[in-house]
Parts: sequence; C-alpha cells; structure tokens
Amino acid sequence: MHDVIIIGAGPAGLSAAIYAARAKLKTLVIERQNCGGLMLLTDLIENYPGFPKGVNGFDLTMDLEAQAKKFGAEILIGQIIKIETGKIKTVYLKDKKFETKTLIFAAGTQIKELGIKGEQEFIGKGVSYCAVCDAPFFKGKDVVVIGGADSAVQEAVYLAKFAKQVFVLYRKQALRANKILQEKLFAAKNIKVVYNALPKEIFGVNNVEGIKFLDTESQQDCMLFCGGVFVFIGQSPNSSICQFLNLDDNGYIITDENMKAGEGIFACGDIRKKELRQIVTAVADGAQAAVSAHQFIEMSSLL
Ligand code: NDP
Repeated sequence: MHDVIIIGAGPAGLSAAIYAARAKLKTLVIERQNCGGLMLLTDLIENYPGFPKGVNGFDLTMDLEAQAKKFGAEILIGQIIKIETGKIKTVYLKDKKFETKTLIFAAGTQIKELGIKGEQEFIGKGVSYCAVCDAPFFKGKDVVVIGGADSAVQEAVYLAKFAKQVFVLYRKQALRANKILQEKLFAAKNIKVVYNALPKEIFGVNNVEGIKFLDTESQQDCMLFCGGVFVFIGQSPNSSICQFLNLDDNGYIITDENMKAGEGIFACGDIRKKELRQIVTAVADGAQAAVSAHQFIEMSSLL
C-alpha cells in the first residue's frame, strides 16, 4: 500500500515526489516515458529562479530526479491502463497493480499536431516538434517554424543558431510571445516572421521540401521551400486517464487552490486548469499537492 502515487515525472510530479518522500510518505511515481516531460525538450531555461546563467532542461531533470530518489521516492516507467477510485485507489498497469491512499495527477500535456496533409508522412523526415532534439540536422538549411507564442519564438531563436534562415509562420498579425523572447527573435539576423500565414500542406518527395500556406489577407495560396518544418502550436492535457474528474472544456483538471481534484485525489502542473504554465508554477503546484495529500491521509482514517 502506497501513501501516494504520482502520475507523471515532469517538474510538477518530481517536486510532489520530493515533498511527499521527504515527509516520509511511501511514494511511487509512475511515468510513461522519461522523467522531465516537456522540460526535457528545452535547451536553456532562463526564467527558473536561482539560475542566473540559465539551466539546461536535461540537467534540471536529472537533478530533480536525483533529489526525489534521495528522499526515498520510487520511480517506475510504465503505461497506466486503468484507475479505480474509492477510499483506496487502485492503479493498473499492463501486468501489475498498485494500491494507494492518495493520487496526484501530474501527467502534463502533449504537443499538438497541425493535422495538415504531409505532416504525419514527414515526421522524422523534416517535420519535428523538438528543436533541441533535431536542430543539428538542419545545419545550413532553411527551416520553417509554425506558431506565434512562447514556444515557437523560443525555439525559432534556438534554431537560428543552426539553420541558414528561419521563417516563422504565424496565423495572426502580431506575435504573442513574451517581450524578452520577441526581442531575441527580432535581434537575430536570420529569422523572418511571415504573418497571416495559415499552414495548408507540407510537401516533398522523400523528405520535406516546403510548405504551402494561405495568406489570409490576400487569400492567396503561397509556397515556401525549406528543409524542415518545426511545429510549436501548443499542447493538450494528458487527461484521458482521469475523465472521472472535473475537467474544463479543454480537458484540464479543475482543482481548488490546494490542488484538490477529488477525495484523496490531487492534480498539479500543466495538466491543471490555471493561468500560467511554467516550470516554476509546476514545482510550486507539486509541493502543494504533496502537502495536501499528506494532510488528507492524516485527517482521514488512513494512517
Ligand atoms: P500556446 O498555446 O501558448 O501557443 C500556441 C501558438 O500556436 C499560438 O501562437 C497559436 O496561434 C498557434 N496555433 C495554434 N493552433 C494552430 C494551428 N492549427 N495552426 C497554426 N498556428 C496555431 O503554446 P506554447 O507552446 O507556445 O506555450 C504553452 C505554455 O508554455 C504557455 O503557457 C507558455 O507561456 C509556456 N512557455 C513558456 C516559455 C518561456 O517562458 N520561456 C517557453 C515556452 C512555453 P494564436 O496566437 O493565433 O492562438
């Protein structure tokens, strides 16, 4: 019997694990892929307090994981197929099941796809969702970035260090990334923003050769030749496993300010309905979720 099972090992889940394990709760983290979540895809995190020179997403992941394990949290890689709720909750994996007094959902979000012709066909052949992973393959080539918010602008700036020319295709008239990121983008000599551009098709023979888009102002179809298309159009919550909770229209878990989502059930990080999705807010949520889970165990007759 675990005191707490945390689903997801991104910054929110690992922070919850540190707080829960340090409070001597028997803590299990279940992660379907790798620890770190979307943080792993980030080269330089410049706005996480305490790191004036910035910190690499992989390095921060390793440190958070080591810290959680140091206090006694167990981390298991596995795919959850079913959850049964009640006073005691049961989490089913393919070939195992675990019982727990409390559950913390920290499964984060997954990257959205464009859903246009050619996108699926060219994944790994020029279509990418991770600049940190794939940018070196595009050294000296022209690449296109889709999106106009924080991720698109941050990743365009990163790609500009490798690519010959970066074109940012954005469907509106003014970027909505934060100002510091925009300053970096406009300072780069090899980044050009194409506004009012709605992607229609990614084309090529064996690899990506270009993208077709609609210029929504002139209503003309346009074509841009490039070797790669990087898609950064946002995320959707990994909440399919917790449909029994109260979710908003976009599938984010609704919690109270103490991260409570149900009886003995808590949620933290990007999977939660909230204003600001950042690593710093994820780790804060994680700490609160673990403390709330501890209080729940003490106050109910589950000790
Ligand atoms: P967002 O959801 O904030 O932005 C998605 C972008 O993609 C928007 O510009 C949107 O356009 C565009 N878009 C969405 N759907 C389509 C489509 N079908 N075709 C073309 N364009 C589309 O996602 P982000 O990944 O940028 O950010 C997610 C969260 O992570 C945010 O909270 C952000 O602040 C945070 N973040 C913070 C960073 C930092 O602080 N350094 C870095 C990266 C992310 P439109 O504007 O028209 O809606």
